[in-house]
Amino acid sequence: MKKNWKGCLSSTLAIFLVVWVTGCNPQPATSSSTSTSAPAANNVHAVVQKTPHWSYEGDEGPEHWGELEKDFAACGNGHEQSPVNIEHTRMEASQTQQPIQVHYANTKVSILNNGHTVQINAASPSNYIVLDGTKFTLKQFHFHHPSEHQIDGKNADMELHFVHQSDNGSTAVLGVLIQGGKENKAFSRIWSKLPKDVSQEEALEGELNLATLLPKDLHSVRYNGSLTTPPCTEHVNWTVLEQPIEMSADQISQFAALFPDNHRPVQQLGARKLTTDHQ
Ligand SMILES: [Zn+2]
Repeated sequence: MKKNWKGCLSSTLAIFLVVWVTGCNPQPATSSSTSTSAPAANNVHAVVQKTPHWSYEGDEGPEHWGELEKDFAACGNGHEQSPVNIEHTRMEASQTQQPIQVHYANTKVSILNNGHTVQINAASPSNYIVLDGTKFTLKQFHFHHPSEHQIDGKNADMELHFVHQSDNGSTAVLGVLIQGGKENKAFSRIWSKLPKDVSQEEALEGELNLATLLPKDLHSVRYNGSLTTPPCTEHVNWTVLEQPIEMSADQISQFAALFPDNHRPVQQLGARKLTTDHQ
């Protein structure tokens, strides 16, 4: 019996360690040895993700994340947490901030439900953004419902996060707000494959032109923040585009059926600056 108990304990620990690196983390949810063209069928991560140990409600909800694990402490006592309420009166025009450069192209992608969101892994290193001279390569993108950032105190219907990493390990997230409106055909192929349950990574056929997922106007607000999921790691370069994209009510409700609420409430902005690239 004792041996079994120990085995159970180590399995639990393994589950904890694997789940810990998923969510809004910059790394794709699959191991780095996974082939970029054919996700491994025996990917164990998808199996253990069935027991995420943090959530968006109740005892494991956002107000408790900081207490759930020692490594989640920043969720409770961090000083530069995300998301935030972006108030126009707090925005400052920067004379030196250059507009974000986005280099997204046709890319093979794979899709999974990691228990916290629907995540699309973009394995190709050819998608990147440049923020004031530093290149950040796209790792994955995922969705929140409703939005995490607020504009003047209001949430949008949804929010899209493109998560990037630089060569030296810095993280930059590009946030795009999604408002109800016209059907957005750029997302049709992803939406036709939305995994209902926690799933293994599955390749989408063909390539997806990631540039078509963005609005035309790339003016943005930037600030220093954190991951919006445990462990809420700080020193994340946040860029939130000012222009939202649209999705139909039907598209939004399809996602909402899977994730009725997977957003973290806004955190105190404190003395942090919200800078824009408007002159
Ligand atoms: Zn996110």
